[in-house]
Amino acid sequence: MKIGILGGGIIGLSSAYYLNKAGHQVTVIDQSDLEVTCSTGNAGMIVPSHLIPLASPGMISKGIRWMFNSTSPFYVKPRWSGDLLKWGYHFYKHANKEHVAKASIALKEISMLSKSMYQQWASELPFDFEYNERGLLMLYQTKETEHEEREMSRFANQHGVEAHILSSEEVQQLEPHVKVTTRGGVFFPNDAHLTPHLLISRLIRYLREQGVEFKTKTLLTDFVIENQKIKMVVTNSENLSFDEVVLATGSWSGVIGKKLQLNMPMQAGKGYSFNASIESTIQIPSIFLEARVAVTPMGGSIRFGGTMEIAGVNHTINMNRVKGIVDSIPAYYPEMNIRMPEQQEVWHGLRPCSPDGLPYIGKSKQIQNLTIATGHAMLGLSLGAGTGKLVQQLIAHDQTSISMEGFDPERYN
Ligand SMILES: Cc1cc2nc3c(=O)[nH]c(=O)nc-3n(C[C@H](O)[C@H](O)[C@H](O)COP(=O)(O)OP(=O)(O)OC[C@H]3O[C@@H](n4cnc5c(N)ncnc54)[C@H](O)[C@@H]3O)c2cc1C
Repeated sequence: MKIGILGGGIIGLSSAYYLNKAGHQVTVIDQSDLEVTCSTGNAGMIVPSHLIPLASPGMISKGIRWMFNSTSPFYVKPRWSGDLLKWGYHFYKHANKEHVAKASIALKEISMLSKSMYQQWASELPFDFEYNERGLLMLYQTKETEHEEREMSRFANQHGVEAHILSSEEVQQLEPHVKVTTRGGVFFPNDAHLTPHLLISRLIRYLREQGVEFKTKTLLTDFVIENQKIKMVVTNSENLSFDEVVLATGSWSGVIGKKLQLNMPMQAGKGYSFNASIESTIQIPSIFLEARVAVTPMGGSIRFGGTMEIAGVNHTINMNRVKGIVDSIPAYYPEMNIRMPEQQEVWHGLRPCSPDGLPYIGKSKQIQNLTIATGHAMLGLSLGAGTGKLVQQLIAHDQTSISMEGFDPERYN
């Protein structure tokens, strides 16, 4: 079949990989040149440990507290927007224990599937993307966070995700080459990490070699729909027709979805990262829990990433929040001397956030040749390879590797 994939981030590219492998003629369409997307500058963590969706008990009150601090990790820009109000309402409705219990099962299944796909990629693909299985350290400073994280580790173990509660001395033993100051931590030994910009650039090159066509700097503007099928994908340069279409346009998918009779509440969650070109003394990626900062050893340097700004699709860089990331470092790694980056050294990405914290993955019931794969929020890289596999199975009408129930893209229609 001729398959058009709209969006060339990790979700579109992994779908292209599996669809090409299954023998289809694949075209990836993207408005950008694909050098800098949300999928290139992220923290690179593959995290089956992340079982709890953003919409969870306690997030609303924390979010409100954080909103009044300009260097805080979470911010919702108040604005009159029907889409934001609707998203906020659904977020509120899902921030409860019952939803967490259901969502965590779905997240665990897709995470495990995705990790096993990355393991396969690392051993089979003819290029390196620095895939490492060294686990993840969750570090905390306060009693309150310690309590929450210990609960989290119990929850994880109950769900079959191995987690170990560590004293501050045990944390230090895991990182012998850098001083770590913590009250304690939780270690998830089965998490992994990779270097996202290497994965993306090398995967694109590989896909081109395999015959996948890329139409970059091509803006999708509309669709021609006939007899419940997408007859034409309309772009700023040409009209294209495909047998099957995959919608993987990240944070833009909510607005694009409306043209396809889809009601997919979506907000862009902006985050920043920068690389510190100091020799990486840390071995294991970590998350500073109070500051919500992710730290990943990457190649010869260290990547710091964080913040979640729900402020619409825009590309302004708020250096105050970047300062919040930099300022958090000495509390955890007191001997790491990280300078404030210049604005041009800061990367930003727009995480496609669904309000319930679960991605939208499935075939449309209304438009027969449309498959949706988007809304992965903070977990898009982690769930990327698995999502691509599921997209290929859905299009082939094969039995999917996991239950798709929680991911129905039309659950808000
Ligand atoms: C600071 C930060 C750290 C993160 N760390 C991690 C992590 O450690 N682990 C993890 O799993 N996730 C992480 N994430 C989240 C992850 O990066 C995202 O979930 C993921 O990149 C989303 O991938 P995507 O393919 O859905 O979207 P994108 O990468 O945004 O790709 C969507 C593409 O669609 C294109 N597009 C949109 N509209 C149109 C249109 N009209 N026409 C043509 N093209 C269009 C865009 O140009 C874009 O290239 C992080 C994010 C941030 C910001």
